[in-house]
Amino acid sequence: MSNWKKRVQAGTLALAALALAAVPCLPRSEPGTARDVAGGAKIPAGPYVALTFDDGPKAATTSVLLDGLAQRGVHATFFVIGENVEGNELLLQRMAGEGHQIGLHTYHHKSLAELNASDFYAEVDELRATLGALLGQKDFMLRPPYGMMNAATQARAAAPIVLWSVDPEDWSDRDTERQVSVILDRAQDGDIILLHDIYPASVETALQVVDTLMAKGFHFVTVEELFAIRGKTPENGKVYRRLPPASQ
Ligand SMILES: [Zn+2]
Repeated sequence: MSNWKKRVQAGTLALAALALAAVPCLPRSEPGTARDVAGGAKIPAGPYVALTFDDGPKAATTSVLLDGLAQRGVHATFFVIGENVEGNELLLQRMAGEGHQIGLHTYHHKSLAELNASDFYAEVDELRATLGALLGQKDFMLRPPYGMMNAATQARAAAPIVLWSVDPEDWSDRDTERQVSVILDRAQDGDIILLHDIYPASVETALQVVDTLMAKGFHFVTVEELFAIRGKTPENGKVYRRLPPASQ
């Protein structure tokens, strides 16, 4: 069995346990709408979305975000830059310990489409090794900086490649009100939302979006959890933008 398959199966069991405990973020759904997993346990039908944060961690803003997500019982995914790991080791361990997923965003925020093989491995594999030593895990998903990639990127990745389906371009104006309205207009079941945890306005955007969409019945999960919910195993080198329910 592949490592990803094992991780996703473990994630499914954890989600089923959450559903059984009926915690606020996974309320009981209508009869007949939940999917059977893990020996009869139910996962609510959704909708589900994954918040993803690139370019961090940054102590001042990421820690505020982690506090806000913890208060709301929400898990997110962080694609981190290797340069930002140094000095933020405890923050990253806290992130993993609180149930968030951590992924690769290269060591120096390089466009992977423009790198030769040895530079590619320096950017991706070194970060994988650094995070592996820090967090005690081997498998990390990859988000290419700028979403720039090609066939060589896919062949070299040794990781599932996670892009996004909702992008409010939060780097462009740091305007929480505009960003929130873009996300609320577009977010649907299975979407992967792109934000950056290095801007205070983006942290505020994320927390406002969580509050509004949770009130509408949305559940916020990590990308890995989204795979588990959909019953799909991520494949190395394959590109994922969203994970809609099977009916879509
Ligand atoms: Zn980036």
